[in-house]
Amino acid sequence: MLAIRAARLFDGDGADPVERPVVLVEGGRIAAVLPGAEPPSGAEFVDLGDATMLPGLVDSHLHLAFDASADPVGSLAARDDDEVLATMRSAARLALSAGITTVRDLGDRGYLALKLRDELAGDPAAGPQILAAGPPITTVRGHCWFLGGGTPPGEIRAAVREHASRGVDVIKLMATGGEMTEGTASHVAQFDVADLRAAVDEAHRHGLPVTAHAHGRDGIANAVAAGVDMIEHGTFMTADGAATEPALLESIAAAGIPIGATVAHTPVPGAPPPPRVAMMIPLLIAVFRNVRAAGIPLICSTDAGIGPMSPHDSLPRGPAQLSGLLGIPPVEALRAVTSLPARACGLGDTKGRVAPGYDADLLAVAGDPLTDPAALTTVSAVFRAGVRVR
Ligand SMILES: [Zn+2]
Repeated sequence: MLAIRAARLFDGDGADPVERPVVLVEGGRIAAVLPGAEPPSGAEFVDLGDATMLPGLVDSHLHLAFDASADPVGSLAARDDDEVLATMRSAARLALSAGITTVRDLGDRGYLALKLRDELAGDPAAGPQILAAGPPITTVRGHCWFLGGGTPPGEIRAAVREHASRGVDVIKLMATGGEMTEGTASHVAQFDVADLRAAVDEAHRHGLPVTAHAHGRDGIANAVAAGVDMIEHGTFMTADGAATEPALLESIAAAGIPIGATVAHTPVPGAPPPPRVAMMIPLLIAVFRNVRAAGIPLICSTDAGIGPMSPHDSLPRGPAQLSGLLGIPPVEALRAVTSLPARACGLGDTKGRVAPGYDADLLAVAGDPLTDPAALTTVSAVFRAGVRVR
């Protein structure tokens, strides 16, 4: 039995911190959370001092195979699978050392993230728990086609079945184009509703959740009509801007579909965002304010790997950015990187909370992120399945 004490605890949900908690860990899981108690005699005791304990963070959208360089696509194409696996291992370690104890890989090449997932399953201290989508399902020459080809109209069920037979944890559909793929555009829809619906139906028959990459209004509307479980990005981008549509927000809220805002990033000194992105920022702030006001669960994730501002340890910066830009309370921003993404990833019973029965994936930081979410980057300890890794 391990007993961990800190000055306070955010349990992944409650707005009031638990004062001077002792968290008991046994067999990799949390056995008890005892406010203001002394550690039981006989337990190994770790006193973290003036730190705040919280659940290990959950990044519901990243790409371990992209190397966060200025040209992640070219760099991936230039490396063979063993080389890519090696950088994926270090990306996973980097995430874990920042307190990100669960990651969902939403697009790899050749199912390499599943390989790494299975490798790390036997050695939890070597990386976060990985959920993996394999190569994203996209149209012929559609967004990210270079990760594993494209699916012609009418063949999407077979693509989902292939992914299921490989053992993926989630199906990732590209419902619009994207910024990094030449010949596609973020505001333009990919696949029609019938194809997307067939994919969702097939995925659900295999017990797999579906999340859809969707920027533009049409792709978002198609994904909602098809019954996806989550939307990635959800920026409502148009050809030259971004703007929400109230009726569509209402139907997303009514369906309870969370939107994963891939907004957590690590600023690169001396490298301001490209003009198109800079122009877009105030518009996107308005979009996510409207998303939140509509009652849609807003999750904070990274899309880590896709560029220099997105190294794989970016997520802890997200809550301060979300809270600062959208003016939301810190506790809500903290839920957006813990309990909310855990639930959206189907891990609501094991991850994202510090409570009895949950995995002992824990982060401790100096200061109090409930008053200042920027404190999330001042890591003082990380535990994965009860093992201290930092
Ligand atoms: Zn992505």
